[in-house]
Amino acid sequence: MREIYIRLAYKALREGIDVVGPSYFSSKLGISKPTAQEALIRLAEQNLGEYIPKKGFRLNRTGIERARELTKKHRLMECLFYELGMPPENACREATRLEEHASPELINLLKTIFINRELCPCGNRIEEGIEEGLGEGIDEEIGEGIEEGLDD
Ligand SMILES: [Zn+2]
Repeated sequence: MREIYIRLAYKALREGIDVVGPSYFSSKLGISKPTAQEALIRLAEQNLGEYIPKKGFRLNRTGIERARELTKKHRLMECLFYELGMPPENACREATRLEEHASPELINLLKTIFINRELCPCGNRIEEGIEEGLGEGIDEEIGEGIEEGLDD
């Protein structure tokens, strides 16, 4: 399952959407509603939350923690690609493409190298506080990430 789905459910939550429906996913990712719905159901099957028929998906505590980790990882990878010279939106796209394949070794290195960095190239906090920001608007970072490979 693509990590962007988990990150996107979390982004929705941060925007104040507790139960995220297939239309949100389909419009943000440019995928069909049935594909989006299937992704939501699979998130629930992985025990990251519950799927409520005809409504959508709600992250549970485990899902939120996982999503925060993945979001942090995504942002660290963005920093890497940015340092290599990519503009922020390209760094984001590249991170979306490669995030599933990053090893723990790479992530640990990035955590060390960027230990003093607070913001990713798009201006989001790399490490979000738990209570901070639920409900506040965030992030341009997911939208354009998906022009390929959605079939996972
Ligand atoms: Zn970013």
